[in-house]
Formats: sequence, structure tokens, C-alpha cells
Amino acid sequence: MQLETPINQISKIGQLKVKYLDKLGIKNAGDLLYYFPFRYDDYSKIIPIAELKTKRSGTIRGKINLISNRKSHLKKMIITEAIISDKSDSIKAIWFNQPFLIKILKPGQELYLAGKIDYDERYGLEILNPSYEITKRGEPIHTGRLVPIYPTTASLSQKQIRMLMSLTLPIVQEINDWLPRNIKTGNNLLNLTTALEQIHFPQDGKWLNRAAERLKFDELFLIQLQSQIVRQQIKQKIASAIKFELERTQDFINSLPFKLTDAQRKASWEILKDLEQNKPMNRLLEGDVGSGKTIVAAIAMLNMAINENQAALLAPTEILARQHFENISNLFKNFDFSIGLLTRTDTKIADKGKISDLKKNELIKKIYSKRISVVIGTHSLIQDNVKFNNLGLVIVDEQHRFGVEQRKKITQNAFCGQKNENLSPHFLSMTATPIPRSLSLTIYGDLDLSIIDQMPPNRKKVEIKIIDSKNNEELERTHKFIEDQIIEGRQVFAVCPIIDPSDKLGTQSVKQEYEKLKKRIFPQFNIGILHGRLSSQEKEKIMRDFLANKINILISTTVVEVGIDVPNASIMLIEGAERFGLAQLYQLQGRVGRSQYQSYCFLALENDSSANAQKRIRAILTAKNGFELAELDLEMRGEGSILGSEQSGFGSNLKIAKLSDVEIIKKAQKSANQIIEEDPELKNYQTLKDKIKHLFSVDQLD
Ligand code: ADP
Ligand code: MG
Repeated sequence: MQLETPINQISKIGQLKVKYLDKLGIKNAGDLLYYFPFRYDDYSKIIPIAELKTKRSGTIRGKINLISNRKSHLKKMIITEAIISDKSDSIKAIWFNQPFLIKILKPGQELYLAGKIDYDERYGLEILNPSYEITKRGEPIHTGRLVPIYPTTASLSQKQIRMLMSLTLPIVQEINDWLPRNIKTGNNLLNLTTALEQIHFPQDGKWLNRAAERLKFDELFLIQLQSQIVRQQIKQKIASAIKFELERTQDFINSLPFKLTDAQRKASWEILKDLEQNKPMNRLLEGDVGSGKTIVAAIAMLNMAINENQAALLAPTEILARQHFENISNLFKNFDFSIGLLTRTDTKIADKGKISDLKKNELIKKIYSKRISVVIGTHSLIQDNVKFNNLGLVIVDEQHRFGVEQRKKITQNAFCGQKNENLSPHFLSMTATPIPRSLSLTIYGDLDLSIIDQMPPNRKKVEIKIIDSKNNEELERTHKFIEDQIIEGRQVFAVCPIIDPSDKLGTQSVKQEYEKLKKRIFPQFNIGILHGRLSSQEKEKIMRDFLANKINILISTTVVEVGIDVPNASIMLIEGAERFGLAQLYQLQGRVGRSQYQSYCFLALENDSSANAQKRIRAILTAKNGFELAELDLEMRGEGSILGSEQSGFGSNLKIAKLSDVEIIKKAQKSANQIIEEDPELKNYQTLKDKIKHLFSVDQLD
């Protein structure tokens, strides 16, 4: 077996299970090893049966005396009963609806049992629906230890994942540890083999912590190292120095129907100052949804166009690209340069605010001959190798940073004809994900930061209401309210924490929400579903339909965070609100309240018993901006850890580290600096270099 060994060759598992594993992103042995538990059940202490009377749960080790099936009184259920004994006493084990157990568990066998304990005078000691494990196999994996619990769906049991994991784990011996020895000892880190063994089947809490520390360090260190390398590389390059056209910029700003906020002015100024340098800008513009980042981007693009440079704006979806195109064509209607739109399905040109269709190859020709100054599109702009004449500035919207490969591709096509490899465009990323100030420097070590921490004035405030999902009366009132809004013509976002139903997480999924709303509550309305597992075409279609008001209620995961502007949507309903980060909730409520209509955000709490969750959520009612809430999220570390990596802003690259791992982030950064100072090209660190190349040669860095 090797890391690349496909999952179906590790053990005899059915085709169906292979498919489920694939859905979890597990294709081979290596993927599985890096599929980490999200928590552990502590069944580490083996308790003599005689001591169980006062306990509510526990693990025992004993022998099966007898085992049999019987029908329950109501005849609906098969009950399996066994008597288990150890030296101290005996106990009755009870399983419901698992009649096959008598084929697996035989009298005389020794086994571990872990589960809930029930004791009463009449029936004596019982252990209910316990996990079991026959002892002869050596070290237990399901009982008698810290037992790993993996994120999974109902179709794939913990037991199955654990079995597969324990079969795969021996190959950790083959993995070579790419982390340089001096870094490892300097930070007192476990070696990789041990860390991987211990993260899945920890000996005890101490080992678990050390394993987690090593694996978190790995992730953060590689990201840091990567960004240091990028920074070095960028420093070597030359960009066009763009004159800050003060007067014409002022005129443009004065022509807007609103006054810029101070934060917008400051950010614009910082960007224009960067553009004046002949070194490429490498800047991140952060600001809440609706804080007005587009206009800041427009000011930069305007200065490029006046200075005979081209500018490109990349949006994450076609719809967003089209919205930007329409918006920006209108902003620039009094200028005599052309604006192009290029996506997979749409190619257009705008002159003096007049938009017309243009064949794709015509558009590409015009871009090449510099007849178009501002090009707006999706990432297909890069993928299709569109050639620019003199592309001085590239902006990506709703992304944290440029990937290396992405940057390379754009640069290759930016200055057609010119053979100077040192030329580079300026780069600006824009994101609505607020990263606490205290952390942004550590995380975005390679980027300069501009922050818009102020909303435009006169925004209608979204009315936020916290509701209790278990309070039927309150729910009915809310549903009635939503119904009235839809009848008046408004639309609704409904956001759930997860896509598929999951017993383990016990929270509302997109699919359950759809069943509930479509079948029981709003059968009369059109309801759509949107989530990250749909293809981009499917997503585009759903969003188009929602924008056109063909869909009344759109149920989704947080993909709408990055979504479209739908001014007609006046309601945001968030299920399982306590599962989200505060900053994330704030982003979500910012999706509504974008028109003259009063808008509402309902935060439905699933677990009303947790006063802490309530208190945390209430912070939203008084928060001034997303940054403040991001700080709060950070302080209350641990909360919502299931969604932790999604919130972190590194997206899928972080499997185990979290933004709240401040100490490890600092260590990782220090170590990365140390290596780069000593050996900027990693000449003496070939393994590390290969690792970085392998890891980051993908489209996006985050
Ligand atoms: P985001 O930062 O989420 O990209 P946008 O740039 O889309 O925000 O701006 C949201 C809305 O606010 C737009 O309709 C825009 O015209 C408007 N807007 C931007 N700046 C201001 C301002 N200073 N005053 C009033 N409205 C503004
Ligand atoms: Mg935007």
C-alpha cells in the first residue's frame, strides 16, 4: 500500500461506500490519513462492572455469558439482549433492531462495550445500544480508548471509517517527514508519522494535543513559507508606474450620486499611491458586504485607463461579472474608453454607457489591440488565455489572494509581444471576509492591507430577530410573516449549516429544509436549492432564476455569502444560527437590505438551552461592523469549531488549523521567516521545495 493506493484496494468495501468516501474527498490512502476526526469520545477508562451503578456512561471489558433476540412487547422491534460479566459483576447489554448481532457476538467471547448506563433496583444494571469490539484484535479502535469521531454522512458509519483508517494507518511509516529537523526541534514538534498515528488513535489527551499541534503547524508553516516566497518574487518585478490623475479622479468622484465614505477615500488613496510605484502592488481590500468596494476598484481602473493601461476585474461567478459590467459601464459612461465583458456564455462591449453584444473573437481582438481598456469577466478570462496589450492592473473580487499559478498565467498574457519577463501587472484582491486586525498581518504576511470599516450612510438597517426553532408559536408567526412578504413580491434567502442530513451534527440541512418548506410550509411557492456541490452551470442557472424572481425562496449553504446582489430579497432566514461564526452571520444579513424595502434577518437557534450561544448571537444586534465580530469570534475560540476552517478564509487549504491558533500561527511565521532569510530559494531544502510546489501549483492559494 502507498499514499496513492485507491481506496477500494485498501480493503474490500462496496462500490457504494467508495462513492460516499469520494464525496468526502477521500480517493486514496493519503486522503484518508489526512481526513481528521472533529472530536473524540473518551472511552479510555475501563470500569469494573460493579462500579457502574453510579455512572451514566462507560467502557467495560467482559465475557459474553449468553445472548439472544426477542420481540419487544409492541412487536415492532427486535431486541438483542446479552449478559456480560467481568470479575466484579455482570450487566445486561441491550441493542435495538440489530438482530444480526447474535451472528457476530457469541457466548464465551471477550469484548469491550462502551455506551450509556442505566441502573434501577428492579431491572438492575443495563448498558444501552453500546458500541462493541471483540478484544482479540489487539488494540481497540471503537472502545476502550479516546475514540475518534469523523465528520460523515448517515450513509457511512463511524465504525466503517475507523476500520478503514486502522487498516491504512501502517503506511505512515513510509511517509518521509518533509519538515526540516531544525524547525521540528526548534518548535518541539512531533515527527509526522507519530502525529498522524496519534491524531486518529491518540494514546491520551496529551499526545492528541501534540499531534494536533504538529499538523496545524504544518498547514500554517507551508502557507507562510509560500507567501514569503511570493513576496520575494514580486519584489524582483517591474510594473507600470501610473500617474495619479488627481483632477480627473476628483471630477469622477464628484459626479457620483453619493459622497464617498472616509474609509473609501483612504483605501482609494492607498491604492493610487501604490500604483504610482514601478513595483507591482500586492494589496488586499477588505470590507463588509455593501461597504462599497466596487467604487474603489473603479477609481483605480479609471486611473489605469487614462494612463493608457488596461485593467481587468475578475468575478467569481458569471452573474456577478455581468452585474459589475453593467454597474461599471454606467459609472464610466462619460469617458471615451470601452469596457468589455467576457464570460463563458456572455461577451459584450460598452461605449459611453451603451451596451451591445459582440462576438467573442471580436472582443478578444479588441482586447489584444487595446481598443478596450477595462475588461470584466470570470476566471475564464485567465483560463482562455485572453491576450492583453498592456494589462497594468488585475483585480479579483471576493477572493482573499491571488494564487501563484493564476498570477503567472495572467502575467504571461498581460503584455503581448513584450519579452521582458520581469514585467508584472499590479494586483488587488477584494474580499468581504473580515479578518481581525490582530491577525491579518500574520495571515496575509505577503499582502498590504486596505480596510473599509465604515458603511455608507443612510442604509436602512436590517431588522434582526432571534427566534427559537423549538417554539412552534414563534415559528408559525415567522412563517406567516415570510408568506406575507412573498405575497407582496419580496424574496427570501434561507441558509442552513450543512447540505446533507447528518445525525452526528444534529442540525438542519439544505435537503431537510427543502423537504420541510416545500412539503409542509410553503407548497405554493417556488423554492430553489443552491450549494457548493452543484456544478457552476447549475449554480448560475439557479442564481439567474432567483435574480429574475422565478424563485421565491432560495435555500442554500453559505455560498450566498459570495453571492449576487438581489435587491428584491428582503428576508434572510438562518437555520442553526449558533453554528455560524458571528462575522459570517453578519455577512449573511448584509445580503438583504439593499433596496428601498425594509428587510429582516431571522436567526433561528436550534439549541435554546445553551445560554452561551444566545449571548454570543446577541452580539450581532449591537455590532458596528464585521471586524468587531471577527474579533469577538476569535476571543470565543472553540465555538463553532466545526465550521472553523470555512470561516478562516484560507478555505479548503486548512483542515485542522484555525485562525484562533494564534500561538502556532506566530511560530509558523517565525520559522518561515527564518528559512527564507537563510536560504531564499530553498536550495538546501529540496523536500520542502517539492512539497510547496506540489501543494500550491493549483489555481488558487486559498
Ligand atoms: P461591496 O463592498 O459589497 O462590493 P458595493 O461596491 O457593491 O459593495 O456597494 C454596495 C452599494 O452601495 C452599491 O449600490 C453602491 O453604489 C453603493 N455605495 C457605494 N459607496 C457608497 C457611498 N459612499 N454612499 C452611498 N452608497 C454607496
Ligand atoms: Mg462586491
